[in-house]
Amino acid sequence: MKAKRILISLGGNALGTDPVPLVETARTVAEPLAELISNGYEVVLCHGNGPQVGMIKVGLDGGRTPEGKTPVPMADCVAMSQSYMGHHIQNQLENELRRKGSDKTVVTVVSRCLVDPEDPGFSNPTKPIGAFLSEEEGRKLAALGKTVVEDSGRGYREVVASPIPLSIMEEKSIAALVDAGQIVIAGGGGGIPVVDRDGQIEPIDAVIDKDWVSVLLASAVNADALVILTGVEKVAIGYNTPGQAWLSEITTEEAKDYIKAGEFPPGSMLPKIQAALKFVESGDDRKTLITSLDRLVEGLAGETGTWIVS
Ligand code: ADP
Ligand code: MG
Repeated sequence: MKAKRILISLGGNALGTDPVPLVETARTVAEPLAELISNGYEVVLCHGNGPQVGMIKVGLDGGRTPEGKTPVPMADCVAMSQSYMGHHIQNQLENELRRKGSDKTVVTVVSRCLVDPEDPGFSNPTKPIGAFLSEEEGRKLAALGKTVVEDSGRGYREVVASPIPLSIMEEKSIAALVDAGQIVIAGGGGGIPVVDRDGQIEPIDAVIDKDWVSVLLASAVNADALVILTGVEKVAIGYNTPGQAWLSEITTEEAKDYIKAGEFPPGSMLPKIQAALKFVESGDDRKTLITSLDRLVEGLAGETGTWIVS
């Protein structure tokens, strides 16, 4: 029987906000992954980096504004977060696999995502990054051509674009590794955003939502299922209201009706449902599971989570 190939997309918040706990949280992530791999699943992992990329940016910029110091480009921070998070997950996952008697190894692929420089996201940057600045510091940063906004009464912050990725530059290499039986971590933090200007690849300041890169990866490796791990065991309608109802399985048509009814907020659950729809509609028998990390094994066994099916 053909092994089930799954693309697991992990929220950055699940991995914590601090370099020291990352060692521990990576182990928490590794346990269920090693179990699935031992049970014959082919696992490809993608992860978010929200808290970690913020930490890297603030750490490198030292909370300082442009005076005497050029802020580190966001694309560079995403690149650092990929290896920082990847190597910890590699260590912990290989340790768990060894405990189970497996000598399989894990590799992280530094992954870039091609984005359109004309993406509407670039004329409307919305993602706040880096340190909170005083009004004066904010003005100096803006003078360098950065977009700076006041962030919810907490100070001034640089905001960057969040464009939709067109493709993963390394998708053929990633697929070749997966086909060769390797355990691959790719697309970390949504991928390093790059643009193609007259045939030349250049990094660009942006942050891509990892829910979008997950769909591209899942298609690139021809996964049977996309698994989105987040802060809830199931998706709900009437979330946080007295009429809340947890969903176990919904069709793409039902999901679209719920989107129209405004059941999923744009900043959190909506991109996951949109990603699920995109993957399920991209091929026969493609399914998406949304659940939490601690229910991953049960979810794949069909015992919990929300499945989005065609
Ligand atoms: P991640 O870091 O995994 O991307 P997000 O916070 O962006 O997580 O989105 C997941 C969160 O969305 C859940 O933890 C939950 O708090 C919230 N949420 C909003 N609407 C719903 C809904 N209809 N059903 C379930 N969770 C929802
Ligand atoms: Mg999110």
